[in-house]
Amino acid sequence: MLNRRSFLTASAALPTALHAAPRKPNIILIYADDLGYGDLGCYGGNIATPHLNRMAREGMRFTNFLSANPVCSPSRAALLTGRYPTRAGVPRVLFPQDQTGLPNAEITIAQMLKPLGYKTMCVGKWHLGHLPAFLPTARGFDEYFGIPYSNDMNPPVVLHATPDKVETVEERATLETLTPRYTERALRFIQANKDAPFFLDMPHTDPHSPHAAAPRFKAKSPQGIYGDVVQELDWSVGEILAALKQHGLEKDTLVLFSSDNGPWFLGSPGHLRGRKGTTYEGGVREPFLARMPGKIPAGKVCHAVASTMDILPTLAALCGATMANPVDGIDIWPLLTGRQADLDRQPLLYFDNLYVQCVRKGKYKLHIARYNSAVYSPPPASGRVNLPLPAPELYDLSQDPDESYDIAPENPQIVKELRAHIERLIEGFPEPIRNAHASTFARQTTGSTAAHPRAR
Ligand code: MG
Repeated sequence: MLNRRSFLTASAALPTALHAAPRKPNIILIYADDLGYGDLGCYGGNIATPHLNRMAREGMRFTNFLSANPVCSPSRAALLTGRYPTRAGVPRVLFPQDQTGLPNAEITIAQMLKPLGYKTMCVGKWHLGHLPAFLPTARGFDEYFGIPYSNDMNPPVVLHATPDKVETVEERATLETLTPRYTERALRFIQANKDAPFFLDMPHTDPHSPHAAAPRFKAKSPQGIYGDVVQELDWSVGEILAALKQHGLEKDTLVLFSSDNGPWFLGSPGHLRGRKGTTYEGGVREPFLARMPGKIPAGKVCHAVASTMDILPTLAALCGATMANPVDGIDIWPLLTGRQADLDRQPLLYFDNLYVQCVRKGKYKLHIARYNSAVYSPPPASGRVNLPLPAPELYDLSQDPDESYDIAPENPQIVKELRAHIERLIEGFPEPIRNAHASTFARQTTGSTAAHPRAR
């Protein structure tokens, strides 16, 4: 019979695999707010972003990564549920006066990972409901620190929450010190949980307007305050990467970086047409970097179409978690490991608010509807409405990435096929979304034909 000493000696000689199951990977999801596709150095931008550039060099960079919506709340709902926000119950931006949030029937990444023993924290802008029943701590997170909505919504309150308690840290956020405080909280969480699998969700408040940088970053960038803020964001990413190295966690941790939607008044969409609040690519195509040394090949660029909705199913497969709800995304681990250059997937729909406006399949994108005014601009006297285009617009994004040359008249069969995909897919959405689509096409194209000469 083994005594304690001999048992320990004998067990020390056993192969590691017999001791314990392999460690689950840590997940860090860094999500900027209103960052442009063309802002980062690794995407051809002019702002100095050495740490994000290093992430791209040491991992994979995507060139066709799409947010599921061009504004804040819906894009976050898609990210955390793997589902279209029009399916997940958050089709529009939430405001401080809203008494609602992400519906309880939706399962977040944190809720999915918790049963596997993950420690979970959300630091930053939540924007999926600010009342206690909708905060991150009610949705699978052990702890939350941040402004629960946008920094231009009054008052931009800073909360700290656990499942038992919500406390107000600041009635009005000191925006200048927000990113350093987010970073400090994140580093503390990593250190405290370095021996357990963890999920750190870090949706930054920046570079959403109004912009404010810490003194050490202020007036340092030739790109003005927006550049200062992005450089500070880049610094924060560098701190996270340094902490992983310090704790020996680099190979155990998948770090993902992206943004919720395109740039607003400041910031660059690169060569892409459109900005935040539009379903042109500039509104929804985002930087996406993924780093996990030893698993994700270094310095690779992936051109396959991918979506924020792919994150949850990818993490489910990677971590061995069970998905409770049907998802619209797919597992893109075969792309991330470089095993495959592209994956079969359903055509992707582009929604703005309740309305489907475009569809993407491979290199083709078809536009069928558009708002009659820009988001957050004074609406026309008739009100801001989603209108059918006088004629659908077709773009070949492989030849025309900035959506400048409508080739619909030359390709009626492709237009017909893509249009049929929209009608087929929309049938699977909740009734309000189907009705919104039907109501759009019951409207006249009043006043918009001037912008579409082919429809005359
Ligand atoms: Mg945003």
